[in-house]
Amino acid sequence: MIVEIIATGSELLLGDTINTNSSWLGHALNEDGYTVAFQQTVGDNPARMAHAFTIAKNRADIIICTGGLGPTQGDITRQILADTLHLPMVENEKAKQLVEAFFAAHQRSVPTESNREWTLPEGSLALENNRGVAPGVALEAEGKTFILLPGPPAEMKAVFTDSVQPYLYKRFGSQGVVFSYRYALYQKRELELENTLRDLVDSQKNPTIAFLIKNGYIEVRITAKAQSKSEAKELLAPWDVIIRERLGAYIGRTLDIGMEELLRDSLKGTGKTVATAESCTSGLVGKRLGNLPGSSEYLMGGIISYSNDCKHRLLAVPQEMLATYGAVSEQVAAAMAEGTRKSVETTYGVSTTGLAGPGGATADKPIGLVYIGVAGPNGTKVYRNELIGNRESIRQGAAERALYFLYKMIEEDKKK
Ligand code: ATP
Ligand code: MG
Repeated sequence: MIVEIIATGSELLLGDTINTNSSWLGHALNEDGYTVAFQQTVGDNPARMAHAFTIAKNRADIIICTGGLGPTQGDITRQILADTLHLPMVENEKAKQLVEAFFAAHQRSVPTESNREWTLPEGSLALENNRGVAPGVALEAEGKTFILLPGPPAEMKAVFTDSVQPYLYKRFGSQGVVFSYRYALYQKRELELENTLRDLVDSQKNPTIAFLIKNGYIEVRITAKAQSKSEAKELLAPWDVIIRERLGAYIGRTLDIGMEELLRDSLKGTGKTVATAESCTSGLVGKRLGNLPGSSEYLMGGIISYSNDCKHRLLAVPQEMLATYGAVSEQVAAAMAEGTRKSVETTYGVSTTGLAGPGGATADKPIGLVYIGVAGPNGTKVYRNELIGNRESIRQGAAERALYFLYKMIEEDKKK
């Protein structure tokens, strides 16, 4: 089934509002097995909106439009759809009931303008909106399915999950499932990966394979489309074997759960604790360690040691070491991790020190060079990282890797 998404609203074209509706709908529909083949964004202009509907109905089976369902004169989506399909606008009894019920529930009288919200193209089915006033619309015409959704994202999502998904399922049945395995590789470059898996890349049909650069790692994703999840898993299984055979040592983790969850599961109930010492990430590692409720069980504290003086005074990094090797060095990363572990009295200490840029590069220390130290009961390890990107992505990438290397040490210690 071919789907086209139309987002309406001049604010989207002006760049004032980011079109999150289309991306959310794209995800949701793809997950349900639909092929989202086209997207349009169009301003609140009658002729252009009609044109957008006409283009869409000529190439898609299902047209899903968001925005312009409010009660004001500017909310013209219902009218334009009726015009495009040469249908009269009529009072819709169910829509009227839904609007009246909304105002009754909020102990308000129904504004006169709201009659616009229950005047729909003939043949429309009104869809309940439990987050706002305007009902959504489903309409079968000219052999196509038209869906109108409110613009505000919370309302759009609510109507889509409560009514549109069940409606489409009833109308078109199961479209199968799209299912992926995702792997995070921390110490391989994209090009190397592609070469290692060249045969899969060249032969991909179902499953397909993709490489995505994320902050701190590369995501390898294989995706299969099938009638059921177990069938999709069967299709993925031989590729999973190949990927693990060729890249096993480099696969840091699978991406079915987040880094924070992984660390929590690794630390929870063990009595082991963590402290941070952050220079170039200035708190991002600690922030992520504290993201989950219950993290107080293992996150004890941390030190944002941005200056050399702070590294020396609070983490006991020797001044001669800072002078000899510089703050961005293997030695200082190790001393920082050990320093915070000692000072906060934890099982593990994790540190970051690097160059996030854009200025400050030297001949032997490029922007993106980050040393990450992890100190634990069985010793200290330091990793040299060369991250790519702007300041933000280097900092985020460094934090991601710091968490990963910490996780790695905790898991290795468990085997000892
Ligand atoms: P309302 O009754 O609030 O007028 P509506 O259904 O008429 O709702 P719009 O007027 O088109 O919807 O949009 C209302 C608000 O919803 C916009 O100001 C914007 O903040 C948000 N919005 C609309 N479309 C999108 C979109 N595609 N992505 C993200 N936000 C959107
Ligand atoms: Mg509006």
